[in-house]
Amino acid sequence: MAADRSYGWIDLVKLAAAVLVIANHTGPLTSWSEEADFVLTNIISRLAVPFFFMASGFFLFRAAKEGIRNKPSLRKFMVRIGGLYALGILLYLPVNVYAGHFGPDSTAGAILKEIAFGGTFYHLWYLPALLLGTAIVYMLRLRLQDRTVLVVTGALYAIGMFGDSYYGVAARVDALAVFYAQLFDAFGQTRNGLFFAPFFIALGAFIGNAASNTASRRSARWYGGMFLISFSLLLAEGTALHRLGLQLHEVMYVALVPAAYALFRLLTVRSVRGHRRVRYMSTAVYLLHPLAIVLVRGAAKLLGIQTVVIGNSFAFFAAVTIASLLPAAMLAIISVPRSSPMPGNPRAWVQIDLSNLDHNARVLKQALPDGTSLMAVVKANAYGHGSVGIAKRLQRGGIRQFAVAEVGEAVELRKAGVKGDILILGYTPTERLNELIWYNITQTVIHADDAQRLQAHGGKFKVHVKIDTGMNRLGEQFDRQEELLSMYRHSRLQVTGTYSHLAEADSLDPYDIAFSRKQIDRFRHAVDLILAAGFNPGRLHLQSSYGILNFPDLEMDLARPGIALYGLLSTEGGATRTKIDLRPVLSLKASVSRVHLVKSGEFVGYGRSFAAAADTMVATVAIGYADGIPRELSGRGGSVLIHGRRAPIIGRICMDQLTVDVSGIPDVRQGDIATIIGEDGAERITAGEIAMRTGTITNEIVCSMGTRAAKRFVSEPERRPAAKTLAGAGIHAPQ
Ligand SMILES: *Cc1c(COP(=O)(O)O)cnc(C)c1O
Repeated sequence: MAADRSYGWIDLVKLAAAVLVIANHTGPLTSWSEEADFVLTNIISRLAVPFFFMASGFFLFRAAKEGIRNKPSLRKFMVRIGGLYALGILLYLPVNVYAGHFGPDSTAGAILKEIAFGGTFYHLWYLPALLLGTAIVYMLRLRLQDRTVLVVTGALYAIGMFGDSYYGVAARVDALAVFYAQLFDAFGQTRNGLFFAPFFIALGAFIGNAASNTASRRSARWYGGMFLISFSLLLAEGTALHRLGLQLHEVMYVALVPAAYALFRLLTVRSVRGHRRVRYMSTAVYLLHPLAIVLVRGAAKLLGIQTVVIGNSFAFFAAVTIASLLPAAMLAIISVPRSSPMPGNPRAWVQIDLSNLDHNARVLKQALPDGTSLMAVVKANAYGHGSVGIAKRLQRGGIRQFAVAEVGEAVELRKAGVKGDILILGYTPTERLNELIWYNITQTVIHADDAQRLQAHGGKFKVHVKIDTGMNRLGEQFDRQEELLSMYRHSRLQVTGTYSHLAEADSLDPYDIAFSRKQIDRFRHAVDLILAAGFNPGRLHLQSSYGILNFPDLEMDLARPGIALYGLLSTEGGATRTKIDLRPVLSLKASVSRVHLVKSGEFVGYGRSFAAAADTMVATVAIGYADGIPRELSGRGGSVLIHGRRAPIIGRICMDQLTVDVSGIPDVRQGDIATIIGEDGAERITAGEIAMRTGTITNEIVCSMGTRAAKRFVSEPERRPAAKTLAGAGIHAPQ
């Protein structure tokens, strides 16, 4: 996985953790003090395995993120770990057989149980635990929010803990003693993929999402302090439990959680280059060290130096460590190339920051009265953001109402597994009406005759009735009483909502506000009429983004934000009554494909529209109007960001490419990243800026984005590039 390029500290600590596991299995301090050895092997080194689990959760779910790329990377991961486990089983088969492990009396059931939970050789348990734990966390994350996943897996961990370090407490309660007896019967012990692994994998995944979210990140000193405190608590906890004789196994502690969390976060504060070989080595050490134990014992016996090597616990530990590290290092050198190849970068891509999406949904909801829920408008491929990824993310955040423009968009969401209500805001042709029923999609009734068309079609439809209160686009006229009521009378139409649309909610001009108020009143009157006639109008809704921002106190059941959900206003800098901290979700990036000097007097591009007045360094960027950049941006002062600086667009924007002047930016090379919308260093280009330059609204700019550019979901802004090249920036290509 290339995603872990910038977390070198994690790689190094993983190797240290692998050595701690060796300590665990060799007891380096036993020659001096049993007490000291207990502290080292049964308390301190207990950090090692949670750390491994967290690293897996961190990298796997960070790289996978949401949507498109989640499944393939999970499959890849499971296959890799499964393969490793199979290798481990084979590797230790001779030792197993030698120890009489798979004797004639072991049943197939017992062996299967061992393979699934315990591992066929004592330290191999980690691999099946990783497989099962990852599957559990993956499944939970599909359905629940990060924090809820932590609560669920944390509860499993608590159950596990009372069958482990705190067993002495549980054993005193009869019912619990019975419960755990059964648990042990089923699983052997609780240190497995159900009670132990999921929590730390989920914690790693949680950190992966939060790590570079600047708002939630704290300083290295803060995490260091938290680690020291929780580490001291861990020592105290482990020692106390040991003294009191409460432990059954000494694996699962309370303080292990904050200690492992703080350590892991500490290591993610600063991004340094990853060490692929070191990472490989820690896995190899983990897999090989029991073999090394056997070999060291055998060799010592053969050479007659048992007293020196085996007799001295530290010498034994050292010998095993060397005997594990050396072959692991050799294997790493042979099989892992020193530096990873330059990560391939797409030609052009859209980057989606899902944590900003979460944020926008949250603040919009907060701006509204408690009883008002959001109906997320995800039409036009979620304004160019990718409707499936966006809808699924919002669904995880608790949103149950979605709106699209047409039936094709609704069906796409359903096929991708989006639940809840999906409302079509526009017209559906008669030949596609059946799909509304098949996919349980709600249709807007556009006017009274439209209701008749649906009723005549046969089949039962869920509908929202639209009332025209002055926009004069869709909806039955607010003052045509008979027609209005007729829409609620049809036997085959189940009316679950009634709504209207404001024509000028974005204006704070008193004259325009008066018009919006008039629309609101008309809507209210129409609803009163419907109620008075004894009909149920269902859920009421009126506000789109600007309706929320400028008329936040309306007591409606739903509000329909579109553009604001994506962190944008239609016109950048426009005034709104409520100020909401909206964060842009979309960035647009592309690769530099060529950099060359254009001599004074030469021209650039179609129509020779740019003439070089002096020698000019020109970079060609692999993105054009077919990727959604408006062609009119040519010659309107537009620019892109390269190395955190503005490079003016020169010449005419082509279908797949554009050219920029990089004379003022040293060292631009092929493969460098150009940011068309988004941040790079301290500089930033917004969709609003491009809209302003091309005389349109932000909505139109983002809607045309990414029809061709590969979509890519991330939950956080890209880390600030450490160096100017791609490799240094820790950027990775979508797989
Ligand atoms: C598009 C649309 C919305 C969303 O509008 P924004 O201004 O993007 O928030 C809401 N309601 C209807 C009927 C729409 O067509």
